[in-house]
Amino acid sequence: MEKGLNWRSLLLLLSLSALFAFLSPDQEIMLHAFLTTQEESEEPFTAEHELDVYVDGKLLSSPGLSAEGEAKHYAPAAEFLDALDKDFWAGETLHCATVFYAGRDFLCIEDFCAAQGISLYREADDSKLWCTSAAGDWNVPQGYRVPVLMYHGVGDNLRPGAELVVAAESLDAQLALLRERGYTPIWFEDLKHVDQIEKPVLLTFDDGYRDNYTELFPLLQKYRMKATLFIVSGYLDSPHNVNREQILEMQASGLVSIQCHTQYHPDLDTLSADLQEEELCWSKVELLKLTNKEPYVVAYPRGRQNEETLTICRKDYRFGVKMGGPAYVTGDDPLLIHRIGIYRSTTPEEFAARFP
Ligand SMILES: [Zn+2]
Repeated sequence: MEKGLNWRSLLLLLSLSALFAFLSPDQEIMLHAFLTTQEESEEPFTAEHELDVYVDGKLLSSPGLSAEGEAKHYAPAAEFLDALDKDFWAGETLHCATVFYAGRDFLCIEDFCAAQGISLYREADDSKLWCTSAAGDWNVPQGYRVPVLMYHGVGDNLRPGAELVVAAESLDAQLALLRERGYTPIWFEDLKHVDQIEKPVLLTFDDGYRDNYTELFPLLQKYRMKATLFIVSGYLDSPHNVNREQILEMQASGLVSIQCHTQYHPDLDTLSADLQEEELCWSKVELLKLTNKEPYVVAYPRGRQNEETLTICRKDYRFGVKMGGPAYVTGDDPLLIHRIGIYRSTTPEEFAARFP
């Protein structure tokens, strides 16, 4: 509030706070907007509409507000900043409009998210709004080697095809080796600080098989290691796949990041642009509404994509992963990230050789 707050607005602020103390919530409340970094607005406005605001997956206890005839929304500033990953809010000056309402400062969500590079998604009926730091606009330090491992199932249910299901004992031994050799399993959003991470590695699991909960999750807990699950949103209710409760439990552990693997797992390069858009966007929105965090990474089913896929993904996703190829080096095309396939037949020696 240090910039642009002059005596006039301070006096106005004080008098308004005194006034608001006597108003009940159902009375028509007049809000006066003042800007912290821009010219003070002379136009008072009326808080008319309330909506649920999610910040990095957390629902704020107080609703957000919008004013009559205004497209912008306001959230209680202290609670909003508290819910936000501190990396995205380092106590900088608020480059956004604020309003004073019912004894508290509210910040303009649209202004704040634009200034801080936070992604924002709003429900069509204006009842909910999600702010997700990881899905926003942030930079990756370039030139760092980050192997991205591709797994599918874990355990002894070989239904997806034997090669795609790594034995639990093998995965246990692989994670132990990574630990022993000083590797740090990270999420894609941790690439923001990849320059500060010792021996980063990304563990990814495709298709969302049920054993990702029964077999993989206990191993992640045992080693306290992070993994990314690519979920096919249309299969969420299938008995062979993880269900909604399991996804939420895994996400809440702080070890599992939930990302997209389309709605029904088609070969995207065989579909029209419209159908691709449906597959890529519907799955993203469905997972967003389940996890309250906006997915920002997509795994192309069977690694297949074309120019149209990339055009769509460039606006809806930060990262896209394929199958096969060498280790990813940050700075390479983030929508065409190679992954190293780990299969049931991968021997301990082959695995160890990749992680010196
Ligand atoms: Zn798949």
